[in-house]
Amino acid sequence: MDNRLVLYNTLTRKKENFEPLNPPFVGMYVCGPTVYSDVHLGNCRTFVSFDLIFRYLTHLGYKVRYVRNITDAGHLEGDNDEGDDKFAKKAKLEQLEPMEIVQKYTLGFHEVLRLFNTLPPSIEPTATGHISEQIAMVQKILEEGYAYEVNGTVYFDVEKYVKEYDYTILTNRKLDDLLNNTRELNGQDEKRGRLDFALWIKAKPEHIMRWPSPWGVGFPGWHIECSAMSRKYLGDQFDIHGGGMDLAATHHTNEIAQSQACNHTQPAKYWMHTNMLTVNGTRMSKSAGNGFLPHELFSGSHPLLNRGYSPMAVRFFMLQAHYRSTLDFSNEALEAADKGYKRLMNAMALLPKLKATGKKAESNIEALKQRCYAAMDDDFNSPVLIAELFEAVRVVNSVYDGKLAIDPTSLENLQTLMCHFVHDVLGLLDDNTGSDDFEKLMEVVIRLRNEAKQNKDYTTSDRIREGLSAIGIQLKDSKEGTLWNKI
Ligand code: AMP
Ligand code: ZN
Repeated sequence: MDNRLVLYNTLTRKKENFEPLNPPFVGMYVCGPTVYSDVHLGNCRTFVSFDLIFRYLTHLGYKVRYVRNITDAGHLEGDNDEGDDKFAKKAKLEQLEPMEIVQKYTLGFHEVLRLFNTLPPSIEPTATGHISEQIAMVQKILEEGYAYEVNGTVYFDVEKYVKEYDYTILTNRKLDDLLNNTRELNGQDEKRGRLDFALWIKAKPEHIMRWPSPWGVGFPGWHIECSAMSRKYLGDQFDIHGGGMDLAATHHTNEIAQSQACNHTQPAKYWMHTNMLTVNGTRMSKSAGNGFLPHELFSGSHPLLNRGYSPMAVRFFMLQAHYRSTLDFSNEALEAADKGYKRLMNAMALLPKLKATGKKAESNIEALKQRCYAAMDDDFNSPVLIAELFEAVRVVNSVYDGKLAIDPTSLENLQTLMCHFVHDVLGLLDDNTGSDDFEKLMEVVIRLRNEAKQNKDYTTSDRIREGLSAIGIQLKDSKEGTLWNKI
């Protein structure tokens, strides 16, 4: 097992050696989506980044338990326990049950992540499936004296907490600045302190998603679900907690406070945060209305796009940036990524066809392999890894053209190295469209179908068209002949 891995810990604001609490096991919790609408490309970037991390840890031999939750209750519109319930609001709008909303967007989320070839997490718990665990945790925090109940709602007592613990430990902000940025309480407020947040919220009569609790009928606050579910599946202390950078200031800060008050320990040893996908420098978000849906990107139907891009080309585009750097969306950047992705896939297709020359390799494959590991060991630096893999592409093309000699052992090492890093670690597959073999195969299929049509064998020609349609390939008859495309 590799022990040279170094990762950036938001908690300490520096790169640290990765030393799991209980090797070879690694517990990793990542905040999942709030399933009240379609995931946008920004959300996908965060999940692709953690997929890379999950894949590399697994590749190194760690036994990773990867828990990624589904937020299907308790998330109000404002992060400060204010506004309508996101699920109930959407349910009214679409005239569906809140749980129909949850089901619809959870299925959509899974489908999109499947297209991006992300591996499923080991456990995907839902907030609604863990109400009793959340209630138990709120009760414990009350018993420990870090919460209080007012009229059926339970608040976390930040003022009490800051006397013993560092509330802003994750982001290092000044408490005074935080207070200055929070609105003053008025006589109507139930909260005692301006920074207090709800652990359990009393349900108004019109609130649909509601559960009985020791404090009356209500629903959980947003932050408690992640503390309760990470504790249940990974223990009081685990290795990695992740999410997008936007979650650090409120959601993760409050998670730490809850876990610390309940378990008297920091929940995670390493906190990892992914940076944002931006559009013209502005963070992509549902509320800003600049969210691209992945399908708009695949089909090219979004007004800002010149054409569509395959999910694998988009995955490559994301991995070309380091997970802690912002990534700005543009046609030019996607075009360049698409070219790079195709160059890499062409080399992957040539790889099994290469012949060893028997002569000593003219390129040092072992050194190249070490550089690939060094890139990933340096806080999962995928852009540097990709640059090294293009060096491998150069070797592949030169060997194929007979311009470079390679001995059998080096050739085997080159093939293993590329399969490991391109498929297993980066999670890139050949999406087939555009590859020579696939084009030729489609020509054969289309010829057979057209011959069947000419012979008036419509049963066969229809079966071919429907069979292709079932795997996402559409045929279009035109003056130039039969065209095909992936939908
Ligand atoms: P949500 O469904 O809003 O709870 O977000 C799910 C995940 O996507 C969270 O980890 C967010 O931090 C992350 N996220 C939201 N917007 C972006 C963005 N523009 N770029 C990268 N990650 C994002
Ligand atoms: Zn969370």
